[in-house]
Order: sequence, then C-alpha cells, then structure tokens
Amino acid sequence: MYYVDPHIHMVSRTTDDYETLARMGCVAMSEPAFWAGFDRCSVDGFRDYFRQLTEVEPARAAQFGIQHYTWLCINAKEAENVELSREVIAMIPEFINCPNVLGIGEIGLNKNTKNEATVFVEHLELAIKLEELILIHTPHLEDKLKGTRMILDMLQNDKRIQPERVLVDHVEEHTIKHVLDAGFWAGMTMYPVTKCTPQRAADMIEIHGTDRLCVNSAGDWGPSKPTAVPDLIIEMRKRGHREADIRKVVFDNPLTFFAQNKRFQFKDPSTETNP
Ligand SMILES: [Zn+2]
Repeated sequence: MYYVDPHIHMVSRTTDDYETLARMGCVAMSEPAFWAGFDRCSVDGFRDYFRQLTEVEPARAAQFGIQHYTWLCINAKEAENVELSREVIAMIPEFINCPNVLGIGEIGLNKNTKNEATVFVEHLELAIKLEELILIHTPHLEDKLKGTRMILDMLQNDKRIQPERVLVDHVEEHTIKHVLDAGFWAGMTMYPVTKCTPQRAADMIEIHGTDRLCVNSAGDWGPSKPTAVPDLIIEMRKRGHREADIRKVVFDNPLTFFAQNKRFQFKDPSTETNP
C-alpha cells in the first residue's frame, strides 16, 4: 500500500532510510522544522537549515521516488531565546514560497514556558498574515495535557484561525478528544519508547474513527523508528480493518490536509497512467 509520512525528520536519517521507506511504499513525506540535534546560535544557522529543508532533502528523497514537503519555524525547544526566535520568524518569508513548503510548523510548546508561548503566538500571527497552514507540536509526557490545553486556548482565542487548517500533533489517549472536538486535525506519533505505539494508535482509531486523523513516525534524533507507519498498516490489517479505512488514515487524510496549501502539488503514483 502506498502511504505518506506527514511528520518525519529526514535531516537526521541516512540515505539508506530513504531507500527502506520507498521499499515499504512511502511516496510522500513532510518534514517539520525542528531541533537539529543541537541548539543553533544565529539566524544564519536557521537559514542554512531552511536551505537543507527546501533544497537538499527534496533532492535526496526524489532519488527514491519520494515527494518531500516541509514546514518552517523555530521550534519550541529553541524558542526560549526570544530575540533569536524573532530573527528567525522575520526570515521565514524568504523561504515560504519554495515549492515544497506547506506552512508554519512544528510550532508549539516544549516546557510550557512564557517565552515559548510568546514565540508560539508570534508564529501564529505570521501564519495568519501569510495565509499558511499550521502544524503544531505538543509537549511530551507529564507536560502534555497542560501544554495541549494551553495551545488549544491560544488557538481558540484567535477567531481568525480556521481549525481545519491546523494539525495538532503527538496526540495521545488523554488529548486526542480535546483536539478533534475543537475541529482541528490530530496526528499520532508512533515511537518505540515514548508517545504511542502502532497498537495504541489502532485502538484510538477504533474509538475516534478515521476523520481528521493522521499517523506518523517522527523519525528523528531520539530513539525512533522511521517505518512505524507500515507497522500500523500491518496492525490494522491484523485486526481486520478494511483497506479503504487504512488507506484513509495513512494516505488520503494527510494529502487532504496538505491540499489546502495553495502551492501543494502531488503526483499520485496509484493513478498515474503509462504514457
Ligand atoms: Zn517533530
């Protein structure tokens, strides 16, 4: 089955990983801007990173027939430095019209601090001004519920934000309903150690249905498994889910969300005809 991984950090992965993902049916992916494994000390560090996300990774992915998309921001982990964050936010418009950019993300909270919240709101302002989609990172473990509530409050306090143009990622059992009930898209991140497993993701799909729900691997600097989405496909098949429902979660849904971006172009390999 063809699938899309809507949240994977390929800058931290090898070229062999691209090949493995292609063999497993991955035809497109989106890579949110995030932490690069170390804190950057200047806006130029981010400028180079944005070039990597808009030039280098799409070319690396294309070698294996994978369409690579991306999101731009300064992540919550580095947003404690408000001055640097403002410089990065001011630089984003230089890259926003690159053909593989889907919007602003992954913005959000990490430790739920005041500075993180300030930078989050300033990113929202930019997204509204540029009419861009928004991808949101929610904090991990014990900070998750509080952080998710804070994020949803900030989003809902701004009437200019259209919920169907926002995806809130890394939801778990105790946050998914808050996100879906408020009209946002939700993403489940499947990790081998923290966040959720393919089994827990399948349970949540059975409870909440398939509408506005996406799954991803996050594949990043920590212990993570870039092939987690195929693991979910196998888990859902084992449980007897219809192929159309599996496809909706791993393929149709992320593409429907992305398609709200005016630059988004996707070549569907399953409908392409031979010349
Ligand atoms: Zn991420």
